[in-house]
Amino acid sequence: MIIIMKPGASEEAVQKVSDLIRSRGLQAHLSKGAEVTIVGVVGDKTRLQGSNIEISEGVDKIVNVTESYKLVNKKFHPEDSVITAGTASIGPGTLTVMAGPCAIESHDQLLQCAYAVKKAGATFLRGGAYKPRTSPYSFQGLEEEGLKYMKEAREATGLNVICEVTSLRALETAVKYVDMIQIGARNMQNFELLKEAGRSGVPVMLKRGLAATIDEWLNAAEYIISEGNPNIVLCERGIRTYETATRNTLDISAVPVIRAKSHLPLIVDPSHATGVRAYIEPLSKAAIAAGADGLMIEVHPCPACALSDGPQSLTFEQFDDLMAHIRPYAELAGRS
Ligand code: PEP
Ligand code: MN
Repeated sequence: MIIIMKPGASEEAVQKVSDLIRSRGLQAHLSKGAEVTIVGVVGDKTRLQGSNIEISEGVDKIVNVTESYKLVNKKFHPEDSVITAGTASIGPGTLTVMAGPCAIESHDQLLQCAYAVKKAGATFLRGGAYKPRTSPYSFQGLEEEGLKYMKEAREATGLNVICEVTSLRALETAVKYVDMIQIGARNMQNFELLKEAGRSGVPVMLKRGLAATIDEWLNAAEYIISEGNPNIVLCERGIRTYETATRNTLDISAVPVIRAKSHLPLIVDPSHATGVRAYIEPLSKAAIAAGADGLMIEVHPCPACALSDGPQSLTFEQFDDLMAHIRPYAELAGRS
């Protein structure tokens, strides 16, 4: 449940309400808006029975939060969050573009990508060092060696860097090298990994599972935030449907739905959603129009030679064009 304080309720009144909640063994989370303060309550609310909290000084009303996710819920935090990762602020007013190869394949490949995406205007370099491949015989990633190249690319270009982690061991290593970790679609419900990402405090981009509902996805984010890490960005990357013309189906409705249900920023990944290079530009535009806070795009110096996801990877020139073509859409959406 949330306790909505009256406009202009004193700090002291807010403190008393929070103290009362905590004295009953519950957690109190404050969200101070421009006009009203909301006190979110996490825990078994029956413990507040007989506390008369509803008539405490400064309390306007009490609203039940029926969803099982609380801290990522918009009701707990009506203002959209801005997440800082490296030098970037992800959230309202900006369009964050993360771009780079599917997998880090070599030092030169990554550095070439870094210079190219930086020049085109991206603010994050992406690249997988631990690849969650469908087949165990496919390229699995360079692991720590790849992370070292990422760090070098960051130092050379000033880009922020993001890498996926697929295990607790990978997480422990990656936090030494990157600005943000990615939990991929296949690990969206790896609860031990989510909890450890929560304890790490490192900014996390949480991708939607291949067949996850929005509710399940927000509950996965709740695992991270409930361990004390509020630095979470969601990423819609397409879901499994009966359609086979694209690799997955980009759930564009997820953008306004997430906007309505959560305060967390949302990035759209049209590369993994479609698996087809030609569809990336129209869906990038659609994502911006729908309200996305950013895009994740796969880029490769030679898509035909890529060790993974070549068919969806853009060449440097195509990425340059994409950035130029989406700029007016970003401006129209009030984002820079
Ligand atoms: C990726 O971004 O490299 C990736 C594997 O994506 P997803 O988890 O969305 O499949
Ligand atoms: Mn990929």
